[in-house]
Amino acid sequence: MSDIIQLLPDAIANQIAAGEVVQRPASALKELLENAVDAGATQIQVVIKDAGKQLIQVIDNGRGMSQTDARMSFERHATSKIRTSNDLFSIRTFGFRGEALASIAAVSQVELRTQQVGSELGTLIQIEGSEVKKQEPFAGKHGTSVSMKNLFFNVPARRNFLKSNPVEMKHIVEEFQRVALSYSEIGFTLFQQDLEVYTLLPGKLSQRIVGVFGKSYQGNLIPCEELTPHVNVKGYVGKPESAKKTRGDQFFFVNNRYIKSNYLHHAVNSAFEGLIQPDQSPFYVLFLEIDPSHIDINVHPTKTEIKFDDERTIYAVIRSAVKQALGAHHVVPSLDFSLDVNFNEKWDNDPEKKAQVDREYSYKSFNTPEFKKASSTGWEKLFEGNQNQIPSRTQHREEETEVLTFSSKVNPSYAKEAFIRPQVEEPNGTTFQVELSYVVAQMSTGLLIVDQQAAHERILYERYLRQLKLAQGPSQQCLFPPTVHLGPSDFALVIDITPELHSLGFMVSEFGKDTIIINGVPADIHIKNEKELFEGLLEQYKHFKNELSLDTRENLARSLARKSSLKRGQKLNSQEMETLVGQLFACQNPNYGLGGNKSFVKLDLSSIHSFFSKSHV
Ligand code: ADP
Ligand code: MG
Repeated sequence: MSDIIQLLPDAIANQIAAGEVVQRPASALKELLENAVDAGATQIQVVIKDAGKQLIQVIDNGRGMSQTDARMSFERHATSKIRTSNDLFSIRTFGFRGEALASIAAVSQVELRTQQVGSELGTLIQIEGSEVKKQEPFAGKHGTSVSMKNLFFNVPARRNFLKSNPVEMKHIVEEFQRVALSYSEIGFTLFQQDLEVYTLLPGKLSQRIVGVFGKSYQGNLIPCEELTPHVNVKGYVGKPESAKKTRGDQFFFVNNRYIKSNYLHHAVNSAFEGLIQPDQSPFYVLFLEIDPSHIDINVHPTKTEIKFDDERTIYAVIRSAVKQALGAHHVVPSLDFSLDVNFNEKWDNDPEKKAQVDREYSYKSFNTPEFKKASSTGWEKLFEGNQNQIPSRTQHREEETEVLTFSSKVNPSYAKEAFIRPQVEEPNGTTFQVELSYVVAQMSTGLLIVDQQAAHERILYERYLRQLKLAQGPSQQCLFPPTVHLGPSDFALVIDITPELHSLGFMVSEFGKDTIIINGVPADIHIKNEKELFEGLLEQYKHFKNELSLDTRENLARSLARKSSLKRGQKLNSQEMETLVGQLFACQNPNYGLGGNKSFVKLDLSSIHSFFSKSHV
């Protein structure tokens, strides 16, 4: 038999690699932005057409490339950023794989113009589907411009797979925001279809946050800083009272690289415990600095996941940093934005205030001599006091899966039980509330104890799902229709789910740039503040979207049920209690609330009898 194995031609190999690197326009934008940052640019301009499907152009004033480098940059594994495998463990640049330009050029039509500082001529290269169409000198300014046109022009299947423009644009804005946040000293502009969406002047992080998210953030930022031998944490958290308004924007950057980590998110959330509602999420932009040899960023080609060699320490440091910041916030007048917000000028220079904070909040400060003395092997000891609050990785995983089990797609361990309808007869008259949280109903065969919040969430969830399916939720008109100003990405999101919102009874429509007006809300919801309801819904929706990959309808139904349900601690009259129990058992799946928690337990007569029978010892 003859040999049959062949090496793939470069163009095909690049196209395959592109599948990982360039999933959508936003991922190409990310790579181009990172290249511009790596090139030392101080000014970066982004031009987007047709949500990136027609054009993404990134223009920087960085160091530019020589003629040979310009051509080389499109080769796979061509990089100026690492040379030996040892360099992999000390990565300080964004890029290092040398795959981005090769991948982008494999699936689009690219025009590169680049000119080095100090040289008279630059290089222009046009390349389509990995094929060089043109290379010639040109005279311009120093810096680099990369235009990526007609993404996936040669891979129609993938082009068809792209989402609607609002969705793709939302991803683009998110990537842009992440890079803009991590480099506040670089000026950025973003044009979409010739409209200027962002102009961000170089400045301090606090100014950049306000530039990205809007003026409402101005008075709401608390500086946060913790310096330890192992890791430094710096940045801002939102004030607890702004947790709802801030729409759950959360950002971790490790050595200036945006990362996602549920584990570290948990650390911040736990520091806010007691200060915000359990269903709220605080705003934060936190930068971790850590010796690159303690992390592994090579886990995934899109590089938003990261491995730390000592996760528990990082968790503890973040939690403590945020706690300190919040503590300080209670004794220090709120941050005056016109002041120079400088990381070094912090409250902890003032011993009097610090003493006060330490009294009020019994967390461990890392600035104590005790801490400073601690060798890295002494870490564990240092956190002993916190130990039970720091979930181990596995514990945390369990928590995650517990939430996940609800999603019908993931198909839960309790599924079998959940879909067997319980045999419960109608309560026969006597109902009462315990702790304003549980409804106890008497039946001829025993007692039923219903968690009122879980039950109501379940009832509403199923109702909203039905309304979404039938596209006919009843709506009540707002007397004074409120307008809601949103960030560009939230705005795009709302436009995208408008049909579903209508089905639920939310009559929203566009009302100027990044603003919507709420003309009507679902008829069966008793609320005073329509705007708050809507913002809360959006917040919850985004939260679920990150945490569980639910489809739009399921997510909306869950989010609205969460937001509008009866809560623990609310008093009910007997008619309300009976209706609640009746409606719960009319549900398709009455056994569980939305968090996978039980919505009721049944105590039947035989178990009640057994409590009082003599033991047969
Ligand atoms: P990586 O960033 O992983 O090295 P890329 O494919 O993104 O790989 O880029 C390849 C090389 O091209 C980079 O290492 C860099 O030397 C050069 N390059 C890319 N973009 C720019 C730019 N905007 N300015 C200067 N050099 C660039
Ligand atoms: Mg790169």
